[in-house]
Amino acid sequence: MANVEPFFWWTEEQKAFADRVAQFVEDNVEEAEKYFWKQKFPHNIVKKVAKEGFFGPGVPKKYGGLELGATGSCIAAEQLGRLYAVGHVFTVSMLAGLEQILRFGTEEQMQEWLPSVADGSEWGAVCITEPFAGSDTANIMTTAVKDGDEWILNGKKRMITGAGVADRYFVYAKTSEDPDVFKQRGHISSFVVKKGMPGFTVEKINPLIGFDNVPNGYLDLDNVRVPDFNRVGEVGKGWAVMMAGLNFERLIGSAVMIGGAKDILKILFHYTQRRVQFGRPINRNTNIQFDIADVIRMYKVAKLFTYHTAKLLDDGQEPIVDASIAKMMNTEYMRDIALKAIQICGGDGLTKFLPLERVLRESKIGEIVAGTTEVQKLIIYRFCAMLPEWNVPLKLRWDDEVNAPLVSYRDSKFKDMEINEENLLKVIAHDYKINPGTYMTMDDVRDDIGGSRVKIKQTVESLEQQGLIVTHRDRAGKIGLVKATYTGLARAFPKEYYRWFPSWYEDSDKF
Ligand SMILES: Cc1cc2nc3c(=O)[nH]c(=O)nc-3n(C[C@H](O)[C@H](O)[C@H](O)COP(=O)(O)OP(=O)(O)OC[C@H]3O[C@@H](n4cnc5c(N)ncnc54)[C@H](O)[C@@H]3O)c2cc1C
Repeated sequence: MANVEPFFWWTEEQKAFADRVAQFVEDNVEEAEKYFWKQKFPHNIVKKVAKEGFFGPGVPKKYGGLELGATGSCIAAEQLGRLYAVGHVFTVSMLAGLEQILRFGTEEQMQEWLPSVADGSEWGAVCITEPFAGSDTANIMTTAVKDGDEWILNGKKRMITGAGVADRYFVYAKTSEDPDVFKQRGHISSFVVKKGMPGFTVEKINPLIGFDNVPNGYLDLDNVRVPDFNRVGEVGKGWAVMMAGLNFERLIGSAVMIGGAKDILKILFHYTQRRVQFGRPINRNTNIQFDIADVIRMYKVAKLFTYHTAKLLDDGQEPIVDASIAKMMNTEYMRDIALKAIQICGGDGLTKFLPLERVLRESKIGEIVAGTTEVQKLIIYRFCAMLPEWNVPLKLRWDDEVNAPLVSYRDSKFKDMEINEENLLKVIAHDYKINPGTYMTMDDVRDDIGGSRVKIKQTVESLEQQGLIVTHRDRAGKIGLVKATYTGLARAFPKEYYRWFPSWYEDSDKF
């Protein structure tokens, strides 16, 4: 019986599920390899996955699922990822509406679609990307126009995983052309489009660097009539639906990479014990041991962070930053693991006979699919920059005893002084003594002196007009940053105030 090392917070059901899926993988890995070599979509294995109920961990029991949460979905993705194409099909099927329907669907819609997600009788595909809209998903051009009880969809989607083999396509389309609505991201709605609907066709299948036996391609929507019942979420709420789905998507996309890393480790231990060069197995070389240790580190960190993020989702949180980190980190780790593994196995590592080169190719896809690494970095930076707890400044305060600036949470010596030009200039000039190269924000100034923001603003404007300080303004003309000019520094304090020398510096050298 296959045994999966669980995390301590997994439930007994989740642990048993992990062992069951792992056993399934071991029983079916040979067949999956045959599909890989023949470059055929593994219909038969995916049907077996469905029969086992492995599509169901993210679906509540009342809709036929296993109700094992995002953690359960990650467990399935991690294990099924070891079956190459099967992992991709599972992942994309989970993304094609599960989270979106659970959060935004009506009870009738859940009853209609979730049982077929859970039992795997319908495979899904998610359709965001278009020829003119990749990272910039808000600029999709596919339209949906209401006609009675139906919507008429026109446009194209591309890079769609599962194109043709999937039954249920979760399509985002524009339902408003109003620029003001666009600015509020109220211009998109989401729809379930079914294979076989008139006007809905596969246009092209992409030959890719990876996804050797997984179809990925273009879809054409030509006057496709979709019942209003198939609209998920309110009209104009498609952006929120998309964003809600993307956290789950990034998480599952990161989980599907982990199982392969564990298999690579098994290959590395096995191979390096048996490959003899210069009269000894190559695992006796420290550099090989170090590289394998690095692979173990990346595998363990990737796994830990993935399941930590899954737990946040299961606890009802919205782990935007964590999901982006997991997605970015796991794909980069997979790339590095694959490169190290290939190097360790030398020429054998480059052949297709060892399942290593394919991991390298898949990791490159991972760095682009579901939001590129650059887009993940944008998300991480922007969200963290907005979080108040990340924006409490680490203040330096001047300490006379040690005659140096110290990290401190105490109030400034100017706190609660009267706000007038003299005092405010002193606050800003004193900051030069501590932070000579940076400006103060208006919040920093207020934090130092306290009192009325309006009064501070008026006084700052007056100091600026007199050339005693300079300001930086945002696009709307609002003052963001302030700093004393040389004239302002001289006006605020005598020159001695700013001078500072280490104890070893000779008096004779001071002038
Ligand atoms: C194998 C595969 C499967 C996929 N499956 C699906 C699917 O099932 N459904 C679906 O809807 N989509 C799918 N996609 C599409 C995928 O989500 C997009 O490819 C991805 O979001 C990037 O869009 P793009 O390829 O158009 O690149 P672009 O958006 O054109 O980006 C090109 C380059 O510019 C950079 N860039 C763009 N904007 C910025 C910015 N603001 N700041 C810094 N850098 C920036 C990008 O990081 C990238 O390096 C799939 C893609 C692949 C490769």
